[in-house]
Amino acid sequence: MKKIFQSIVSWFDAHAGLEKLKSLSPKELDKIDWFRAVPFIAMQLMCLGVFWVGFSWIALATAVALYVIRMFAITGFYHRYFSHKTFRTSRPVQFIFGLVGASSVQRGPLWWAAHHRTHHKLSDLPGDPHSPVLYGFWKSHMGWFMTRRHFPTNFKLIPDLTKYPELMFLNRFDIVVPVVLAFGTYYFGKLLQIYAPHLGTNGPQMLIWGFFISTTALFHGTATINSLSHLFGWKRFKITDESRNNPLLAIITLGEGWHNNHHRYQSATRQGFYWWEYDFTYYALKVLSWFKIITHIKPVSQKIYQEVRDQKALKKLIKAGQLTDLLPDPNPLPKNAS
Ligand SMILES: [Zn+2]
Ligand SMILES: [Zn+2]
Repeated sequence: MKKIFQSIVSWFDAHAGLEKLKSLSPKELDKIDWFRAVPFIAMQLMCLGVFWVGFSWIALATAVALYVIRMFAITGFYHRYFSHKTFRTSRPVQFIFGLVGASSVQRGPLWWAAHHRTHHKLSDLPGDPHSPVLYGFWKSHMGWFMTRRHFPTNFKLIPDLTKYPELMFLNRFDIVVPVVLAFGTYYFGKLLQIYAPHLGTNGPQMLIWGFFISTTALFHGTATINSLSHLFGWKRFKITDESRNNPLLAIITLGEGWHNNHHRYQSATRQGFYWWEYDFTYYALKVLSWFKIITHIKPVSQKIYQEVRDQKALKKLIKAGQLTDLLPDPNPLPKNAS
């Protein structure tokens, strides 16, 4: 009973009761805390409300707009800024995008960045929070963060972020911004019902589409990078983890699908390394940089492009049969062996 109470308290205060986790065994830490995960599960079940509230084009458009804006906050800021510091920005802008990101129900920016830094340190090795190679699809997609082990934020990994009390606040009370957005969508629908009745929407319909459906799609879209992009696609760079480039995932995540590129060279702002590797997050960040809202965008190092050219040249030589000593020997035993 006490445990259930603690789980419920941590819905509202994500930093509460963390000390108690230290006494748990590794097995207990890896168990899913179902009570703690109730808001996340409820969010997905609420999508079924669509059968009661019906459809309107304005509700769909709002859902899509909120998906795109918040996906950009996650990929451009939670990922490329808070986790990797691939560009610089001012404290107010950092806070504003932290706030927009926090409305995505993907916890606070500090929690997100700390787990993501662990992912890059231990990619597809024991200790990686989400590796489909080690734990399978479901655990790497959503099971991992519902375990007791991964509810807390490891502040040791993000000393550059913990110094900002406003970010600490967002991280601690991570339920606040999503709740405000949910109410916002409801009242937006109600206002449209009164002032633009021809649009055919209302409060409950806008709440289901604008908040629940949009946020659930946004969550699963983002999570494909933890699950599918370490399973499906191709590897441009022969690195030790299973990250892959996947053009389909790059569409739904606004450019994060070039995940093998990103694992090879994390400090670049762009993840599509060539013009044909569309990276919508990068284009939007570039626009922000024209207005000096962000600065010091980091390019892909020339060393990396050279690496790609060298690999291509080597493959060509092998194909032309000019590097036979590198091919597997069909007769591996030396002639004098008996
Ligand atoms: Zn990353
Ligand atoms: Zn990865």
